[in-house]
This record gives sequence, structure tokens and C-alpha cells, in this order.
Amino acid sequence: MMDFLTNIAYSSYNMLLWVGIFFIGYSVLENLTPCNPKQRLSPRNILTDISFMLIMPIFTGFIFTGYMYISIYILFHNASQDDITNYIMNGYGPLSQWPLWVQAMVVFILSDIMLYWFHRWFHGHNMWRWHAIHHSSTPLEWHATFRFHPVNEWLSFTLVNSIILWMGFSPASIGIMGTFNLIYSTMVHANLDWTFGPFKYVFASPVFHRWHHTSQEEGMNKNFAPTFPFLDLMFGTFYMPKGRLPETYGVQGADIPKSFWGLIVWPFRQKKSTGNRV
Ligand SMILES: [Zn+2]
Ligand SMILES: [Zn+2]
Repeated sequence: MMDFLTNIAYSSYNMLLWVGIFFIGYSVLENLTPCNPKQRLSPRNILTDISFMLIMPIFTGFIFTGYMYISIYILFHNASQDDITNYIMNGYGPLSQWPLWVQAMVVFILSDIMLYWFHRWFHGHNMWRWHAIHHSSTPLEWHATFRFHPVNEWLSFTLVNSIILWMGFSPASIGIMGTFNLIYSTMVHANLDWTFGPFKYVFASPVFHRWHHTSQEEGMNKNFAPTFPFLDLMFGTFYMPKGRLPETYGVQGADIPKSFWGLIVWPFRQKKSTGNRV
């Protein structure tokens, strides 16, 4: 338990350092090449998103530990303590024997495919109210990255990481991508007009993901991939009209609260809804 709390305290400290770097870095970049020049930082938005950033890892850590206990029980119920320790440190089976960089590349692509489909599921009739929290941010800023309801987090990102570990991949193959994912996901939410030109089908850009967050009819239920837009191209959900940028963000038809605890409670009070509308 102490180890768990120490880890949480250390990662919170780390996150605060990153917050400082992002505030300075994105302020400079967003002044140079904004997607929506009239958009202004909202202190209330910042406070809510920073609360998600610092509080969510505590919830997520408990659920992740639970997923791992289940997998250890199923996979290793007759194994020795050494085998279990080895699994936690290095993975198991043939996949864990691949060179670490190969594992990391495969995990990266596999995670994106799974997250694409989980994301589409959360845009559907039954799940939208949980995911609407992520879309509630208006204006849309880099810190909206962290605005995910725990139910959304546990049934997509936490679950995908657990599936990767259940398959036997080394935990280091996920860890290797951790910092990259943090920087990349804040970048695609930032108020930047970057499209990545001819690489727009290969790597998600701020304009690609900002179209996903738009409240304009045309961009709804499009651009689900976290990192690789060719998944959207393959499955018919790619949307980046040439020469145009999204203008408005948020959720249609809903008065979603603005505070952290308001957002946590809100989905429990909602009935089923249609994707992007409440
Ligand atoms: Zn979404
Ligand atoms: Zn987003």
C-alpha cells in the first residue's frame, strides 16, 4: 500500500513538472500558429482539467491493480511466486521474448487499433454519456487531454493496457511509450493549426483531433484514432476538409457541469443518449 501511495505521489509530482512545461511550451506555439485565434484560456477549465490530471491516476491505479490480480489469478493460479514476479517484471510467453523495441512498436499499433474501436463504442447509444465528459471542454485546450470520466478511462485506456499485459508483452513495452503518449495527446488537443500536410493520414495532428471535438454537425463521429489516422481512413471515419478548420467545440443538447465533481456525477443521472448528443 505504501509503495502504491509513493508511486501515486511521485507520478503526481512528475505530472506537475510536465504541466509547467506544457503551459510555457503551448502558450508560445499557440500564439504563433493558433487554430482558433480568438480562443482564450479559461481558468475554470484549467482547474477542472488539472483536477482530472491529479485525481484520476488514484482511481485508475486501483482498477489497474484489480485487472492485474484477475489476470494473475487466471494465468498463474498454480505457478510459483517467482513466476508471478517474473510476469509482473518481464511479461510471459513468446511475445515477451521479442526485442523490446519490436514489442513497443507492435504494442503501439495494437493499442491504437483497440482504442479506435473502444472510442467508437463510447460514441454509441449506450456509452456516450460517459464519454461526453471528454467532449465537454469548450474552449478546447491541451489540458482537455486529461478530462476523462473514470468509467471511460477504465473501459478503454486501462483495459487496453491490461489486455496488452494479459497477452504477455513486457510492461516495459508500454512504459517506453508513456512519455511520448503524454506529449502527443496534449499536442493533438492544443489550439494549433497543424495538419501535418501529406502525413495527415499517418499521424494524428491537432486539426485532425480538433475536428473530432467539434460541435459542428459535419465533424461528429469522425477521427477516432488516437495516433494513426489511417485507421479512420480504413474504417470510413476520416474527416479533414481541405483549407478549413473547426470553429466550435463541446456537446450538443446538454448542459454539462463545469466542475470536476459535477462532471464525475453527471453521467450517473443521464439516460441513454445518441452519440454526440444528450
Ligand atoms: Zn470522442
Ligand atoms: Zn480528445
